[in-house]
Amino acid sequence: MRLYEHEGKDLFSKYKIPVPQGRLAKSAEEVFELAGEFNKPIVLKSQVLTGGRGKAGGVKFGSDPQEAKSEAEGLFDLKVGGFPVEKILIEEKLKIEKELYLGITLDRANYKIVILVCAEGGVEIEEVARRDPQKILKLSFDIDEKFYQFQGLVIAKWLEVNSPQLREVGAIAGNLFRLFKDYDAKLMEINPLVLTSDGKYIAADSRISLDDDALFRHPDLKEMGIEKRHEEGELTPREIQARERDIPYLDLEGDIGMFPGGAGFGIMGNDFISYFDGKPANFMDSGGGPTPERLANMLVLLDENPKVKAIFAARFGGISRCDDFAKGVIKFLKEHGLSKPMVMRMTGNMWQEGVRMFEEARKENPKLFEKLEFHGIEVPIEEIAKKAVELAKEAG
Ligand code: GDP
Ligand code: MN
Repeated sequence: MRLYEHEGKDLFSKYKIPVPQGRLAKSAEEVFELAGEFNKPIVLKSQVLTGGRGKAGGVKFGSDPQEAKSEAEGLFDLKVGGFPVEKILIEEKLKIEKELYLGITLDRANYKIVILVCAEGGVEIEEVARRDPQKILKLSFDIDEKFYQFQGLVIAKWLEVNSPQLREVGAIAGNLFRLFKDYDAKLMEINPLVLTSDGKYIAADSRISLDDDALFRHPDLKEMGIEKRHEEGELTPREIQARERDIPYLDLEGDIGMFPGGAGFGIMGNDFISYFDGKPANFMDSGGGPTPERLANMLVLLDENPKVKAIFAARFGGISRCDDFAKGVIKFLKEHGLSKPMVMRMTGNMWQEGVRMFEEARKENPKLFEKLEFHGIEVPIEEIAKKAVELAKEAG
């Protein structure tokens, strides 16, 4: 779970990592007022759950309240990395002498905590890693290993800190390390850690990702206003829509919509489609005992996806029965309507009843079923997959 910059900086403060003085604003008028209170040049930082705001125009400066206000108006109209700007963090503008990088992450392959240090900050660390990997210092720690003061000094040295301040910067690294472990983090970055022209080291940015599954261990986060949220930065709009409806869903590259039973049947379906040279447009799981509403919602996701040319549907009735499945599909046909050709098969618990319900509904309103071809156990699953691939080819 990714935190906003201002939330990360609150945590930094708690762990004695210096951050600029800052206030949060939700409107350009508020920015105007706060800039007046600061009464010095400020930086305006859009609070969005994505990096690279600098490059995307999401970081602006204002030397007086009027300028701050007009920059804020621009920011509130902007989308940064696809995200609308709803909050702006106002901080006193730092006079930057140097930008440094300090990060901590998990090396999952080796079960280690890794500290990354680089005297070139402000830029993307991945870029430095490609261009000049020898410029990055990596220190590995076992999960239960302590951070010693001398390691802080090694880090500060790597950052080319002058002797009188080695301890100070070393302590920032040590505190970041403690913060990382205490809050079950997956990633923490100070990029840039800034050396100001009056010789102070300050975290000008924060990036923190916490382990969602460990959130319950940190009730104090809630008190700080940090609530569980989706990692929207990594989801497509359709995946977000699916999440909101509690449907496990992933977008894939292909053009065949996959409407399976459970996850296992979904994996098998994707395998079959691939075997017949088709490409699934998604992976989806109905998530156990789905209601007709949920099933209808799942179909809406596929039918409204412009990339989908045909839909493959396969249900093996277990605890969730085929007649309930048919109910959901019929609900979708009546309320939404099917605009893509769909071929489906039902077997297992109550499949005959499911097929019977389809036949009855078709008798009532044949038009609804124009695009839907359904089968029971008499047609093997391979034939259904093959048919779905054919239908997609015909449509494309
Ligand atoms: P990011 O692009 O999303 O990582 O946002 P950052 O918070 O890292 O800001 C991007 C860049 O804006 C930094 O690398 C700095 O060069 C610049 N910047 C941010 N805050 C300040 C500030 O207070 N003073 C000055 N002069 N530059 C700043
Ligand atoms: Mn940054």
